[in-house]
Amino acid sequence: MNFILNLPMTSTSFFSKNFSSPNQFIGKFNGVELVVKREDLIHPIVSGNKFRKLKYNLLKAQDEGFTKILTFGGAYSNHIAATSEACHILGLESIGIIRGQELGEDLQKTLASNPTLNFAYQKNMELVFVTRKDYRLKEGIPSLKDLFESDLSIYSIPEGGSNALAIKGCTEILTAKDDSFDVICSSAGTGGTVAGLIEASKPHQHVLGFSALKGDFLQNEISRWTSKSNWSLQTDFHFGGYAKVNSELIDFINSFQSKYQIQLDPIYTGKMFYGIFELIDSGFFSKNTRILAVHTGGLQGIEGMNRSLKQKGLQTITLL
Ligand SMILES: *Cc1c(COP(=O)(O)O)cnc(C)c1O
Repeated sequence: MNFILNLPMTSTSFFSKNFSSPNQFIGKFNGVELVVKREDLIHPIVSGNKFRKLKYNLLKAQDEGFTKILTFGGAYSNHIAATSEACHILGLESIGIIRGQELGEDLQKTLASNPTLNFAYQKNMELVFVTRKDYRLKEGIPSLKDLFESDLSIYSIPEGGSNALAIKGCTEILTAKDDSFDVICSSAGTGGTVAGLIEASKPHQHVLGFSALKGDFLQNEISRWTSKSNWSLQTDFHFGGYAKVNSELIDFINSFQSKYQIQLDPIYTGKMFYGIFELIDSGFFSKNTRILAVHTGGLQGIEGMNRSLKQKGLQTITLL
């Protein structure tokens, strides 16, 4: 199946248009209908929820005359790649605070082995590598405080891009044509995307978040952003933790891809779809439930994951 989206690609209009992604029917399993919202088709890099989360932040930064965007991420972060590309398109400068000081010791070596950082670097993002300890301080890193005070042209976006404007952007994932679905599924990292979906959901709908991380901080995190209660989290499909994979997950991603011609990523969407099928098989959803699963994008991360799988002599993710 081919989708042609009429996308705004020029610098002035990249974020100005509101559009809805196509819904793709996957099948009916155990009496449950599964449809995918193809947010991954928005843009190859500023894809899925990263487009939604950056939109109002970058529009505000531009409106208010900021010329530099500073943000935070890990070495394979979809948010870092998306921010570098969006800023490049909009003519904004970008600074990425990257977790892992050792990565900055030999930049050329890091760029040669890390496709995400290499991409960001090619898009003129200034990469600043910090220790894990400093990274935890985020905006509180002492050297950054000085930078913020001396350079008033900097607009800062938190790790993963989640703030109130990001959540506002994520409310635009759902449109009126999605009202007929009973359950809306999304992968969750910081929970900002799930919060936006909850805010946009109708009272008869339930939002089900699939945590890509181990631990149960997400429940509180999402509650900070919404007062609604028509949602819950699945916390058993993280496969050992953030960015951890096993051969069962890789097999699942590859077979899903060949059956439905939809590429999933190993960090977020692959784990969510694996979880959805497990829940359907176990009878978690009642008969005739209609599920809309949001494909949040993130496909840029596959290349980095494949390199690491190959090094370990493990099976890799097949690309469409
Ligand atoms: C960043 C990301 C998420 C997590 O989004 P949050 O709003 O942080 O929960 C989910 N899926 C993909 C593909 C992502 O890149």
